[in-house]
Amino acid sequence: MKEVLLCKYGEIILKGANRRYFEDLLLRQLKRKASVHGQFNIHKAQSTVYVEPLDQGADMDGMLADACKVFGIISIARAAVCEKNMESICQTIRAVAPAALRGVRTFKVEAKRSDKRFPLDSMEIAAEAGAAVLESVPGIRVDVHHPEVTVRVEVREYAAYVHAGCIKGAGGMPVGSNGRGLLLLSGGIDSPVAGYMMAKRGMTMEAIHFESAPYTSPMALEKVLRLARLVAEYNNDEMIVHVVSLTHIQEELVRNCEEDYFTLLLRRYMMSIADRCATMCHCEALVTGESLGQVASQTAEAIAVTDPLASRPVFRPAIGLDKEEIVEIARRIGTFDTSIEPYEDCCTVFTPRHPRTRPELSKVLAQEEKLDFSALVDEAVAGMYRVVVHPGQEILVP
Ligand code: ATP
Ligand code: MG
Repeated sequence: MKEVLLCKYGEIILKGANRRYFEDLLLRQLKRKASVHGQFNIHKAQSTVYVEPLDQGADMDGMLADACKVFGIISIARAAVCEKNMESICQTIRAVAPAALRGVRTFKVEAKRSDKRFPLDSMEIAAEAGAAVLESVPGIRVDVHHPEVTVRVEVREYAAYVHAGCIKGAGGMPVGSNGRGLLLLSGGIDSPVAGYMMAKRGMTMEAIHFESAPYTSPMALEKVLRLARLVAEYNNDEMIVHVVSLTHIQEELVRNCEEDYFTLLLRRYMMSIADRCATMCHCEALVTGESLGQVASQTAEAIAVTDPLASRPVFRPAIGLDKEEIVEIARRIGTFDTSIEPYEDCCTVFTPRHPRTRPELSKVLAQEEKLDFSALVDEAVAGMYRVVVHPGQEILVP
């Protein structure tokens, strides 16, 4: 039997004159995802994208799993395709219902007829389709108020479709529809989630990672690149990671500055370097995984000390989330298990014993003046290099 994925738009529906632009981005994403799963015909009609396999070799399970990672789609139904007449619709129901409704005790049918030339109205379609379910699934009964499963029949332009429920789509806006962001990607739990959250709002993401070799190991970098590869699945199947060494800066901080200020001073360097990198890769915003009050450097006062180093907006999508909520997203998008692998981060080497939680800017600046800030930033930026990662491709640590 012929199957199709019916991918329904989310917020794109609300777009006026430039809706076409968003739809085209969405189609492009789905086509790229489909390219590794076989031959598909992908087209749009009536606020739905149709993903139709063109031959037996097409992998519908794989395509469905990947379609769930495409932003802009709110729900996906894997539907059986039938001709636009009641005989064919009921025949399809009799063929699919026994397996699809196995063990189900109650159901209802909802019919939708967007082709108004179809001779039956939606009530009549539902009644006939319901009878076909009752006929083919022993012991099942109708419950219009609280059914366990709703069987849907949609009579559309070219065909009719039958399915028994939708899967939740990724929601959000198609990647590429809302500018470019540079994600400060650590090896932790929060920053991959932050990258995912901004990609969900349509931002194309690149990443910058700070390392501190030899205090941080090649394995730590490899882990970060694996995280980037996981986030890439939500970001045009690509993540460009700019890698910067903070080693010299950290050594200078340790040699010259008061320990309590290390983290804040380092974060000011990170912000400044990230801002320079963002200019170079045409990103309009920086993105971090900060969550208010999570650690000393994430109090409002500490953020106020680091924020002015950026000459563009700094988006912190996790700022109001609890750790538990961030973890829940990390698990759902598949980054959690990698994030908790125990490798060192540049922020965890030379960590002060008593970091300042309510820093005074004047005191931070007094410490900062002991070093040549801009020369150290220039040096770090000059040594920056990039690694590009793609899902399914091996990671080569430079
Ligand atoms: P977790 O608490 O899970 O370790 P985290 O790494 O996000 O999360 P912090 O170390 O406090 O927490 O860092 C705050 C933010 O600063 C991170 O979310 C990330 O955006 C940025 N950041 C921290 N370390 C690095 C790094 N080595 N490279 C790039 N960005 C970093
Ligand atoms: Mg961290």
